[in-house]
Order: sequence, then structure tokens, then C-alpha cells
Amino acid sequence: MKATVIHEHGGTDKLIYEDIDNPKFSNDEVLVNVKTCAVNHLDIWIRQGLPGKALKFPHILGCDIAGEITSKNRNFPIESRVMIYPGISCGKCSYCKKGRENLCGSFSIIGGFSNVHGGYAEYVKVPLRNIVKIPLPFSFDEAACLSVSYLTSWNMLKSTNVVKGKTLLVYGGGGGVGSATIQLARANGAEVITTVSDERKVVLAKKIGANHVINRTKYDIVTEVMSITGNGVDAVIDHVGTNTWMTSLQCLKFGGRMAVCGATTGEIANIEIRTVYNKQLSIIGAYLGTKAELIDMMKFMQVKKIKPIIDSNFRLCEAAKAHIRMDNNEHFGKILLKI
Ligand SMILES: [Zn+2]
Repeated sequence: MKATVIHEHGGTDKLIYEDIDNPKFSNDEVLVNVKTCAVNHLDIWIRQGLPGKALKFPHILGCDIAGEITSKNRNFPIESRVMIYPGISCGKCSYCKKGRENLCGSFSIIGGFSNVHGGYAEYVKVPLRNIVKIPLPFSFDEAACLSVSYLTSWNMLKSTNVVKGKTLLVYGGGGGVGSATIQLARANGAEVITTVSDERKVVLAKKIGANHVINRTKYDIVTEVMSITGNGVDAVIDHVGTNTWMTSLQCLKFGGRMAVCGATTGEIANIEIRTVYNKQLSIIGAYLGTKAELIDMMKFMQVKKIKPIIDSNFRLCEAAKAHIRMDNNEHFGKILLKI
């Protein structure tokens, strides 16, 4: 089969489009003919490598996968339209048994820092329990957007209790988590403030539902948030990390909640401990979500008629171009690889 493979960490020149053997699978696994694989920041980190994170080469990236079943199994007919829940867990511990698999001690992500190959390929093998039927309204392209950034966003909105009437700040309205959060939070009745890096994205963020859009290259985020809200927001979704950490704490109102994931600008931050306890803030980590949450989220999206925001399509052999587009922050919505 054709695949885009990495044989070592490094720049986009390490994404090699080549022929490799089809995956061999066991009785508990199924083979999926990949139709679309979305690109996530995780893919870039894995290509580049992170300190202390080992990976077995060759490796195939790609954790947001939709396609067709091509091997016989006990649950899904051949050619079923499916997407893949990207979390790999032990299936045996108390968390796994309770359906909280993202708390499993051995939790890892398909195509991520695991030895499970991902969706930058014509075929991928995954455990049968990771297969989710694509609900009818969603195309392969749309389904491929949902399992990572949308699911993480859904998880963070739940943990910060963003419901009707609450105010929310989410950075990077054009990114995967940013655009997902705007759509999901607005559909839940929240008032959403977002930040973007240029005027084109101000227009696009408003178009997908943001109530207030701050061009962070022109305006100070804390000043703008305080002028909009008076006393800060109920919740912050922070996937940016080092660069926004203090801004997030300052933008929260007393009793506010902040959910963190990603950390695209770095994972080290200083924290004013007194600010946290004086304002009685909560800081909550989010790592993907569970398979049950993915299914719940898709039901919610169907009821609210939400379709994911797609930025652009690339061919599998153009994975480097897709990474460059994401790295340069040129995208608004999800970048897809069409297999
Ligand atoms: Zn487990």
C-alpha cells in the first residue's frame, strides 16, 4: 500500500511517501481502508519528536481517521462507513471497565507516541473496539475532523461547565480546537470570545458563531476581555500553553474554570499561586475524551445541525504541504489528507 512514513524525527522532508506492506491484523483487529485523515498538531510534534518520548521507526502518523471496513469481523459488514476512536487502552483496568479509557495508565493515541500506526496510509489496522459507525449526516471528510480536536473541545466544555449564559474565552478561533469550541459552545448557549491573528480570520470566526473576536496582533487580550465582560469570563479553553498561561488566569472571573490541552507554544509556565486561590480558580486537564463522549458529541452535533469546519484538502503524497500550512498558522478549520 501507499503510505507517508517517517523513519526519523525532523522537518517536513522526513515525511516520505512510499510503498509498504499492508498491515497484518489479528482476530480482535479490523482493517480499514482510509478515505480521509485529518492533520492535527500532534502529528507535527511526533514528526519533530519531543524530549523523553520514544518512538519505534518506521512510524505512520495520523490519529483522525475515517474510512471503510475491509476485513470480516463480528460487528460491522464489509464497506461499513466508520471512523476510528483514536485512544488505545488496556481494556482491563477499572477505568477501562467504567468506560473512562482516557484515564487508563497505558492510554496512548493511534498514530501518536505509540507503536500503533496511524492514518497517513491507504490501510490502517485497529482494535475492533475502536471502530465507531459514522452517523449518516457526516461525510468521510467531516467524520475525520471529529475524533481529536472536536472531542477534546467537547470534553473541555463539559469539565468547565460551559452551559447557557456562561462566558467563554478560547484562543485561536481558526485552529481545530478553537473552531470546534466556538461551534459547540455557541450551540450550548454560551457567549464566546475568541482570538485570531489577522483580519481575515476575524471575519471567519464571526461567521462560525463567535460573539466577540479579538485580533491579538492589534489588541491586548486581557483588556478586551475585561471590557466585554466587566469582571472576566466563566471559563477559558487554553490549548496554547506557555504564551497564554498568565493571560488565561487574568481573564478568568472569581470561581472561573480553565481547561488545558495541547500546549502548542510550550508546556512550561509560571503560576501565581495566590491568584489561583484568591480567585478560587480551577485548572482542569483534558486528554482527548472517551469513546462514549465521542458518540454523545456526534448526537449533539446532529441535533444542533453542526458540521465541522474544513479548511483545505491535500493528497497523501502532499502531507508535507499540509504540515507547513498548519505550522504557518494559515488554516481556518481542519486540514485534511485525502487518501
Ligand atoms: Zn485500562
